[in-house]
Amino acid sequence: MGHKALRSSLLNAIGVLCLVAVAITGGQPAAEGQGQDEEQQMGQEVFNELKAKGEIVESSPLYEQLRPIADAITRVAQPRYNHPFKFYLVHETQPNAFATPGGNVFVVDSLLYFVKNTEQLAGTLCHEVSHTIHHDTVTLMEKQQKIEKREVGAAVLLGPSRAHILAILLIGKLHSLKYSRDVESRADLTGSDICASAGYNPWGLVWLFQDFKNAQPDQLPQLLSDHPDDQHRVDALEQHFRENASTFGKFSPDAKSAQPFYVPKNAPEAFLR
Ligand SMILES: [Zn+2]
Repeated sequence: MGHKALRSSLLNAIGVLCLVAVAITGGQPAAEGQGQDEEQQMGQEVFNELKAKGEIVESSPLYEQLRPIADAITRVAQPRYNHPFKFYLVHETQPNAFATPGGNVFVVDSLLYFVKNTEQLAGTLCHEVSHTIHHDTVTLMEKQQKIEKREVGAAVLLGPSRAHILAILLIGKLHSLKYSRDVESRADLTGSDICASAGYNPWGLVWLFQDFKNAQPDQLPQLLSDHPDDQHRVDALEQHFRENASTFGKFSPDAKSAQPFYVPKNAPEAFLR
């Protein structure tokens, strides 16, 4: 891959983040069957899958850094979704974050080492939560199901629930699903609203894009990115900020105003089994 192509692909890291997000769309531990709606069931199956793979971090000092941000975002976002948001650290090599139907948000531990400031992390999490509020994963899985009936053919014969079929698709596509650029952009804008209400400078997401663009390719983590160029997402955010100056005007676009984000090196992690 050429330098330009690599840069362009890295620009879309957030998009990428979400691909995986979609892929893993997870769930929360909840009573099985009764009382669970389809989104919860899908989420539960992904949660179980991640747990079975030993990826879910049960305890780590990193939670101390994540929790205040997650709590502030939850306070703002929760009224817009009908299942409780829950944030879990997961251990994967690629810096990433992904939300799944049912309210779970999974944050890859290495993302906490990758972000330079609190606003970049908050922006990423606000974006992911927005996918859940918009029901983007379910919508995408429904499209996939139509396209790939053969993949779920065997499952259909067994007569599982629709949620189960969608979850199979979701789990199987963990690292290859893609939202459209418009869906990503919509999550960016809603995410910036949530971040602003939660008190985090919504320019954090823009700064994250800029860091990807400006970084030397060999200094970047290996983000899976083959999205189309998403400069227009930055443009859309900036336009949204301009058009809603009463909300966004009080935040500085200067990354020098950011709150540095510190995490303990080599934090020990215990995994949920
Ligand atoms: Zn996304």
